[in-house]
Amino acid sequence: MRRRLAAGNWKMNGTAASLSEVEKLLQAHVSPSVEILLCPPATLIAQMNWKKGQHPLALGGQDCHAEASGAHTGDISAAQLRDAGATFVIVGHSERRTDHKETDEQVRAKAEAAHEEGLVAVVCIGETLAEREGGHTLDVVSRQLEHSVPEGATGENTVIAYEPVWAIGTGLTPTSEQIAEVHQALRSRLSARFGADAAFFRLLYGGSVKPSNAAEIFAIPDVDGALVGGASLKAADFSPIIAAL
Ligand code: 13P
Repeated sequence: MRRRLAAGNWKMNGTAASLSEVEKLLQAHVSPSVEILLCPPATLIAQMNWKKGQHPLALGGQDCHAEASGAHTGDISAAQLRDAGATFVIVGHSERRTDHKETDEQVRAKAEAAHEEGLVAVVCIGETLAEREGGHTLDVVSRQLEHSVPEGATGENTVIAYEPVWAIGTGLTPTSEQIAEVHQALRSRLSARFGADAAFFRLLYGGSVKPSNAAEIFAIPDVDGALVGGASLKAADFSPIIAAL
């Protein structure tokens, strides 16, 4: 009932030369059974949209402003992302929460802005190493879920990505039991808040997903896909991850 989702977050990587990687990816996955999403830098969204309708690749932004337009130099709105060809946008990535001091409330406002424009919001949450070691993981992710996900969220307009901060770009991953524990807790919090619709929310795991650990992660109950950083940049790495899903 939940279509599996392989999402790539290119972060601040990639130029027009990287489009050849997208070509390779599309050649390898002509009619995939899972949904494939790429979130390149905003500069590349329109360029990646060149074969709109001819391939199954969905495109997303990596952040959006909470307002629809205005005097916000350097920011980008959900409407602009949609105009460029995006149907998704990541909000609340830990790098945004850290680098730009984004709060749960700001993340929720961004998710609401995404919904207003008909974009699917990929809401990121996850604990730091200190929080995990302090035994606070479930409290932290539950609080982030509660405050970052808007009231109007549904399984259709919102995806949740659990990305432990200490696993991002480090090569470290939680054990399968640790991922399962968090994903089950998230599903039950969603149930308490959204009732039966909770079953339709896709829960992604993110943090050092690579070809060698993808199958093990995807076998964990309540993991509906992955949000992949470094290993989404090259088709040779992302393609086997997609195939493992
Ligand atoms: P890595 O896959 O490079 O650890 O990054 C994960 C991530 O932050 C995706 O949003």
